[in-house]
Amino acid sequence: MSWDSYYRLEDIHAWMDSLGAAYPKVATVISAGRSYEGRDIKGLKISFTSGRRSVFIEGGIHAREWISPATVTYLINELLTSSDPSFRRIAESFDWYIFPSVNPDGYVFTHTWYRLWRKTRTPHSTFCYGADPNRNWDFHWGEEGTSTNTCSETYGGPEAFSESETYSLSKMIESIGSELDVYLSFHSYSQILLISYGTTGQRSENFDDEYEIGKKAAEALSQKYGTEYQVGNSQEILYATSGSSSDWAKYNFQIPIVYTYELRDTGENGFLLPAEQIIPNCEEVMDSIVAIFEESEKLGYFKMGSNNTSQ
Ligand SMILES: [Zn+2]
Repeated sequence: MSWDSYYRLEDIHAWMDSLGAAYPKVATVISAGRSYEGRDIKGLKISFTSGRRSVFIEGGIHAREWISPATVTYLINELLTSSDPSFRRIAESFDWYIFPSVNPDGYVFTHTWYRLWRKTRTPHSTFCYGADPNRNWDFHWGEEGTSTNTCSETYGGPEAFSESETYSLSKMIESIGSELDVYLSFHSYSQILLISYGTTGQRSENFDDEYEIGKKAAEALSQKYGTEYQVGNSQEILYATSGSSSDWAKYNFQIPIVYTYELRDTGENGFLLPAEQIIPNCEEVMDSIVAIFEESEKLGYFKMGSNNTSQ
């Protein structure tokens, strides 16, 4: 993979399979179940030393946000191949569970039928398909920022976890929830680093720390290309949301470090971010990820290196 264009699902899956074969002791192909149309929700577990605390990375929950799977695959490549000492230290201090495209039916649909499709592809009424998989989790499900109209872009589904994708991914997360120190979710666009929670009047339990870490991450991100990110929670700087994956994970497993990236740009190209921006976007995001881990360590959330073991 060379990140000079956007890749189809089958190419991303084949690439992950090839990594599993190329790095047999480190990279293991894993599955978080199947989509409504039966596609594998394929991921990689990357582990240089077993028994470490864990990081969960989720991309592509909204189908049209193509820069998200591109960024997550870039991160996988960096974890396996980067020779940068600060990046290597982060990579080797955790077990990584990484899923580049958690809404595979939607992603395939954006490549074959309609570039701007957002939701899953479950039929929910005679004419309207799909629920918003980032309004379908069992955290304040069906409240603010969610529609009950099956045709809406933000239709939350008939009930929490009605979608095969969110249900099976939630089971995967539950199985490792107590091991997680960090959860990152990648979306576009807006150039914002979002902190939980998206629901009105509710800030994450360690909001002040996450804000401080987020500000350092945004500063690091801006160094290479001057790209400006805002930091804050959705209800305060974007819009109120409910039923999102990252809020569900943060709340249920009290994961200390949780961010949702809204990647490039701020609307000039929107979801149709030109492919020549993939690499600059990924480079600056990697700088911010290093800052997130290093600042979190400074604030005492974990200790990287050989002591970061899980009990
Ligand atoms: Zn999104």
